[in-house]
Amino acid sequence: MEIKVVKKVLEANEVIASQNRRLFREKGIYVVNLMGSPGAGKTTLLERTLLHLKDKKRVGVIEGDIATSRDAERIAAHAASTVQINTGGACHLDGNMVRGGIGEFDLDQIDILIVENVGNLVCPAEFKIGENDKVMIISVPEGDDKPQKYPLMFQVSSVLLLNKIDLLPYLDFDMEHFRGDALRVNPRMEIMAISCKTGEGLDSWFRWIEERTSRSAS
Ligand code: MG
Ligand code: ZN
Repeated sequence: MEIKVVKKVLEANEVIASQNRRLFREKGIYVVNLMGSPGAGKTTLLERTLLHLKDKKRVGVIEGDIATSRDAERIAAHAASTVQINTGGACHLDGNMVRGGIGEFDLDQIDILIVENVGNLVCPAEFKIGENDKVMIISVPEGDDKPQKYPLMFQVSSVLLLNKIDLLPYLDFDMEHFRGDALRVNPRMEIMAISCKTGEGLDSWFRWIEERTSRSAS
């Protein structure tokens, strides 16, 4: 019985997510659903990305958090517009919450919408929100065993950003093992090793998001 209920929730979500998707397409907005554990570096990546895109694209941000608006305050300094969604305890964003958030934007003033999902490696992967791409960020201190433990997150992501590679010399993180496992779960995924602290590897990510944005606008 419980399985049936979950299925219904997911189906209802798909409907709303595709309505969001249609609206974004009409407005020519490229949408990223950014997912990862608490502390993986989602907000820092966003700050870096916004700084890079500053004079090129108009970026709107939705910050999903269980409580507080701390991340939204960090981001508001850089983004064209920022909307905070407090889930009130829920551990992921869904299509309906994002639909509520969209109403706060002037969609004609945005080229890219980046949605920072709630910090969690599990259920954000199950709920579409109307995005073009899911992007996941994971950090070296979290360990190299995550593709096997949380396969769905890896399966649904177009890009895997491996953050905090500046810590590799200090931790037992086997890069080849990690890459192999990640690609076994999702052979189409692009893997980029980055450090939001030193900036290493971020160029590939910036190129990727710009390229995807211009492709979806044409
Ligand atoms: Mg954050
Ligand atoms: Zn959840």
